[in-house]
Amino acid sequence: MCGHLNGTAPLPEHAVVPTPVDRACYPDLAEVRGQGHAKRALEIAAAGGHSLLMSGPPGTGKSMLASRLPGILPPMRESEALETAAVLSVSEPGFDARLWGRRPFRTPHHTASGVALVGGGSNPRPGEISLAHQGVLFLDELPEFDRKVLEVLREPLESGHITISRAARQAEFPARFQLVAAMNPCPCGYQGDPAGRCRCTPDQIHRYRARISGPLLDRIDMHVEVPRLAPGELSAEADPNAETSAQVRDRVIRARDTQLTRAGKPNHALGSRDLERTCPLQDSGRRLMEQAMTRLGLSARAYHRVLKVARSIADLQGEEDIQVPHLSEAIGYRRFDRRSPT
Ligand SMILES: [Zn+2]
Repeated sequence: MCGHLNGTAPLPEHAVVPTPVDRACYPDLAEVRGQGHAKRALEIAAAGGHSLLMSGPPGTGKSMLASRLPGILPPMRESEALETAAVLSVSEPGFDARLWGRRPFRTPHHTASGVALVGGGSNPRPGEISLAHQGVLFLDELPEFDRKVLEVLREPLESGHITISRAARQAEFPARFQLVAAMNPCPCGYQGDPAGRCRCTPDQIHRYRARISGPLLDRIDMHVEVPRLAPGELSAEADPNAETSAQVRDRVIRARDTQLTRAGKPNHALGSRDLERTCPLQDSGRRLMEQAMTRLGLSARAYHRVLKVARSIADLQGEEDIQVPHLSEAIGYRRFDRRSPT
């Protein structure tokens, strides 16, 4: 039984919805083998609410990892749970009370139409991005999505809502979702495979990656590789010492509390004005960032994203100041800004 209905007096605004059973309802991170680097990225993404793009061959656990994100996010507040329920109540499937207090995890297929993804119709209904409100929107095989469909994500990614205009009618739906996307490294999926299975030409690889526009890539905070597991890792028994979602979530909650106390919002939502106050850098950090800007050709937007991710890394470690190692790690999550096929 996953749901939990709170039928008593309303809770205060920032009260945490009692969700003693929801951990059991989300799949657990401990079930994902290996991929320590990607798990680390997932934890940082959870801490600051950052969007994440995973790249790797088929079968390396990208979908498994994505589906574990809701289970390591902080529990929903009463107000968040109400908003999510309200959106679902006007959707086609309607609201299921058993899902109360549970963060949505939506996985639209790459053949999804623009209307299915962002909403619409003659009697406007919310699309996947609104059904994922306060939860996770997972787009697997990102380059396979219609480019025009992907472009409409840019606005809600920034604003957290979507306005749908149909003739005389206009509807606005909330769409504050956390985007997680996955892609293969090349059309066949095996680029970089040690067995040399990939036969894609550099030109094919370039065209495949170019299907995701620079501006959309720019808006994804973190890029991480999810490589093929070594044969030993594949055959190994499940690691009894692997961290559980509950353990990771405890750290995420602490880091998120720090952010809410400091700025009243999670790090991903910091505006450029907030950054001066919340992410001051020492000289060494500033020099490193300048070098990275030149070397990686980072846009101003990407620069700000690196700062916010570095802030989340520092928060996870309980550090007040952003240090060079936090920045280096955050810069490492911008690897697809170098848009070469290798
Ligand atoms: Zn290939």
